Amino acid sequence: MMVLITTAATSVESGAAGEKPCLRLTVLFDNVSHRPGLVPGWGFSCLVEVPGKTILFDTGADGGTLLANMKRLGVNPDGIAAVFLSHIHGDHTGGLGALLARRPGIQVFLPEGFPASFRRAVTERGADVRTVGAGGRLADHVTGTGGLSKDGIVEQSLIVETPQGLVVVTGCAHPGIARIVETAERLTGKKSHLLLGGFHLGGASRTGIQAIVARLRSLGVRKVAPSHCTGEAATALFRQAWGHDFVEAGLGAVIVVPL
Ligand SMILES: [Zn+2]
Ligand SMILES: [Zn+2]
Repeated sequence: MMVLITTAATSVESGAAGEKPCLRLTVLFDNVSHRPGLVPGWGFSCLVEVPGKTILFDTGADGGTLLANMKRLGVNPDGIAAVFLSHIHGDHTGGLGALLARRPGIQVFLPEGFPASFRRAVTERGADVRTVGAGGRLADHVTGTGGLSKDGIVEQSLIVETPQGLVVVTGCAHPGIARIVETAERLTGKKSHLLLGGFHLGGASRTGIQAIVARLRSLGVRKVAPSHCTGEAATALFRQAWGHDFVEAGLGAVIVVPL
């Protein structure tokens, strides 16, 4: 029987010849630790692998740590075809320079609203910079929410359509985690299976967090895998609310979803 989701590193056998196609998410940079032997740091980066394309979602705060964690996890940077940047904050973009030094010609997907100076600097380093709008396609099964703005910060999230529903990956969720889920569901007409990344509730009140939990429950989000800027209090409430549909995430987590 196929396991729908696993955080165990033993799921590595999937993807071999003859196996069913799957989405594989590997958290490469996070301040929340999941597996020993890796270097945690404030920020977020997650490898998104679908058949035919490997996309790096955000790059963490620094390239040295990102590349060291990749090496430890057996991820070859030469296999990365594209980088998807959620938003401009340094804890998500800081590792890009080191990656471009290694992989100069790769695609870099930005939402509208990134400063021209950032685009120019990335283009000058050899990257193929592309703007991705709402519903814009990155690969088979993979699209973006487009830039959502709040308080002057523009942020996009990544959507993978699976037979179980949407897998939505967020960076810091500055526009609001529920708003991101609603946008992804509106764009695709599908419900969310798994929500992974930073939910940005570190400074939220208990009632504020409970309201978000209730909203995500009513939207029908099946599984949650919060980390990065979600905060300990919010993470505990999510764990309680989702029970065994709470997926332990953080640095080194590997999550596999059949496609
Ligand atoms: Zn941020
Ligand atoms: Zn962040």
